[in-house]
Amino acid sequence: MPPRVGVVGAGISGLTLVRALATRDADVVAFDAASEPGGVMRSRRVDGRLLELGPQRLRLSPTIESLVDDLGLREQLRAGEDDQPLYVYHDGSLSVVPLSLREAVTTDLLSLRGKLRILKEPLADPPRAGESVEAYLTRSFGRQAARRFGGPLYSGLYGTDPSDMLVEYSLGRALENAGIDGSVLWWALRKRLGGRETPPICTFEDGLGQLAEALYDAHADAISLETAVESVHERDEQFELVTESGTERVDEVVVTTPAPTAADLLEPVDEGLSATLERFSYNPIGMVYLESDFDGEGIGALVPSGSDVRISGSTWNASFLDRDRLFTCYVDPGSDPNMLERSDESLGELAATEFERLTGARATPIHVHRWEPGMPAYDRSFTAMDDLEPPAGIHLCANYVGRPGIPGRIRNATQLAATLAEK
Ligand SMILES: Cc1cc2nc3c(=O)[nH]c(=O)nc-3n(C[C@H](O)[C@H](O)[C@H](O)COP(=O)(O)OP(=O)(O)OC[C@H]3O[C@@H](n4cnc5c(N)ncnc54)[C@H](O)[C@@H]3O)c2cc1C
Repeated sequence: MPPRVGVVGAGISGLTLVRALATRDADVVAFDAASEPGGVMRSRRVDGRLLELGPQRLRLSPTIESLVDDLGLREQLRAGEDDQPLYVYHDGSLSVVPLSLREAVTTDLLSLRGKLRILKEPLADPPRAGESVEAYLTRSFGRQAARRFGGPLYSGLYGTDPSDMLVEYSLGRALENAGIDGSVLWWALRKRLGGRETPPICTFEDGLGQLAEALYDAHADAISLETAVESVHERDEQFELVTESGTERVDEVVVTTPAPTAADLLEPVDEGLSATLERFSYNPIGMVYLESDFDGEGIGALVPSGSDVRISGSTWNASFLDRDRLFTCYVDPGSDPNMLERSDESLGELAATEFERLTGARATPIHVHRWEPGMPAYDRSFTAMDDLEPPAGIHLCANYVGRPGIPGRIRNATQLAATLAEK
């Protein structure tokens, strides 16, 4: 008989697990503390304007495309303008990040010497044990490319300085997941010559939350919202998930929450595991939504850590997603050390001021949302990965242990569901 699986959390990981297990006729039950599904993948309408509280857009991989069709969401799908440039703040203004050959030749971000230095990357040794992301990128691509766009491009979303990230616990894993085991330049060239395209950017008419809602609606009978799991206990070779409304007995438990919550929930099962989970650091994120007449074309702008600008970046939803005059700015304690003490009003003003400094255009804050614990920091605390040994029957399926992007979360959760269904 297939095991009864209990899933903690109905973000994209939990929702995918439920769907993949239900499709295999496995017995699954899931709980989420929040009143709506999707976790950080959530959308809101504020004064008629659509805001993404977490991820701003998605890559339409073949798996996601077939999910979209299965859920009947094809009509709601909206394509983003993929060919717009990404900018980075350098030396008082915005420069184009060289992500294509044409941009590499034309960008004013690098000197000619800096551009030529990148070509030596195929000769660089692979990442070394204990090496920081900054040191690895500098050794591989040269100081200019590493400092001015390589580091910010990778670490920007996580809010961690690249010198505090160890390659083997961060960028190295990302490269491995992308199937890159040698030169990044060769890989990019082979991909281009082979005609392999990066899946296009997309979202939905009502934002990415629509995908979460559709997944939930399809499996609502197995998912209890507004039902926080308070603890997990081992009992007679099974596990008990304790919630406010009762106790659920299951054979296998999958915890998809951020590490600090997983640490609390799993303490009764395994104190050592709980202590290891507590070691993972996160960076809180403040999302500030601005309305502006800025008419620049682009995906957004990165701000390197250590810069004097007090936002870590911005997404130009108005430009590449055609969302009316909307721009999203990110603030974290690395970009603004006072972020946690600021009121929403003060955070909004700060982002509007810094946005104007970057673009020259005035902006008005329309909403602020905060995520805590926020993003996994992938900093030196992630050496905790080496000590992570969940006991039989307990599974961690979350971004800090697996892939952080939505397509990656769907892949991880689908793989785990297949393993569990075969038990
Ligand atoms: C600001 C931001 C921007 C991002 N941008 C992108 C992007 O552009 N593209 C991309 O691909 N990825 C992006 N990501 C990453 C991606 O969105 C996340 O990694 C992914 O959505 C995480 O999904 P998850 O289900 O693993 O976790 P979560 O979404 O964190 O879900 C965990 C769930 O557990 C629930 N929970 C917590 N405690 C309990 C409890 N005690 N009992 C029951 N339930 C509980 C929560 O309510 C939540 O629903 C972004 C993330 C953030 C935060």
